[in-house]
Amino acid sequence: MTALTRAPAAPPRRAADGPAIRTQGLRKDYRGTPALDGIDLDVPRGTVHGLLGPNGAGKTTAVRILATLLRPDGGRAEVAGFDVARDPAEVRLRIGLLGQHAAVDEILDGRQNLEMFGRLYHLGPRTARDRAAELLDRFGLDETGRKPVGAYSGGMRRRLDLAVSMILAPEVMFLDEPTTGLDPRARTEVWSAVRALVAGGTTVLLTTQYLEEADRLADAITVVGRGTVIARGTPDALKARLGGDRIDVVLADDDEVTAVAAMLERIGEAAAEIDAEARRVGVPVRDRVAALTAVVGALRNAGIEAEDVILRRPTLDEVFVDLTGRAATPSKEAAA
Ligand code: ATP
Repeated sequence: MTALTRAPAAPPRRAADGPAIRTQGLRKDYRGTPALDGIDLDVPRGTVHGLLGPNGAGKTTAVRILATLLRPDGGRAEVAGFDVARDPAEVRLRIGLLGQHAAVDEILDGRQNLEMFGRLYHLGPRTARDRAAELLDRFGLDETGRKPVGAYSGGMRRRLDLAVSMILAPEVMFLDEPTTGLDPRARTEVWSAVRALVAGGTTVLLTTQYLEEADRLADAITVVGRGTVIARGTPDALKARLGGDRIDVVLADDDEVTAVAAMLERIGEAAAEIDAEARRVGVPVRDRVAALTAVVGALRNAGIEAEDVILRRPTLDEVFVDLTGRAATPSKEAAA
């Protein structure tokens, strides 16, 4: 019988099953002013949760508390089954954080960066190499793997940031405005990368100023304003709450905008919204088919030519204005 010279390693602490993220009454004050004033969140594992709100709403503060970078002043927060205040080390083992600025090396190429971070995370040389190859493939960076990062486009750069934060395949990933400052094509690339991340089993909490982004990526959305929850639900449920469908009419002649606005207000549920430059008039409607028929009939009777008549669900931007009374504001960078 061989003697044990070492005590067997303690079994890894396992978290109970439950949501990936749960907060109850989460509070944070800065010099007596609440940045978070009692936020409740419940994010099931394997889902994407969108945290939306204008600048200063408290999104980054919430993410920093959940990522154990900041201590809450009240309430509770659990991530991957561990309390962020009592077990921060356990939380840190299970999370990844992508802030607005990541720390990849500009001189190294993508593959070298991934291998370097793999080694920093104590992977062996072969494992680090294999993991780098796997991530370059998963994030569509195969062809650019040998290019110095300084020569990457914005979208490639963000995908590499995501790949770096995925080296240890975190259970929960925090993405704080992952596409701020990117052009539309690069944003689409990052969205694919986020989907790849979720397909790999990671739960994502995404803060974004692009409401379309939450609509595309999130299973559920929490809208925050001044540190409190204003609304929550699926993107579809939030849109449905606002009276469902809208009809937009795009006119051939901008002289007719006012007449058509009056016409739409008789058929629709609220005041018409007018975009004179685009010659577009829109209104929320209740019974979509009846309203569409009525609009087309009224335009014909009045002899008004429309370039287009569109029946659509409201965008999240419209949802946001309705819920908060203000538009989603541009990012700090865009506003600077
Ligand atoms: P943004 O999109 O601009 O990042 P946000 O929703 O992430 O906004 P937070 O950055 O969490 O908002 O800020 C919430 C509130 O707390 C704001 O009023 C902000 O001015 C304040 N705040 C944030 N950090 C600090 C700090 N270190 N000291 C003092 N006040 C702070």
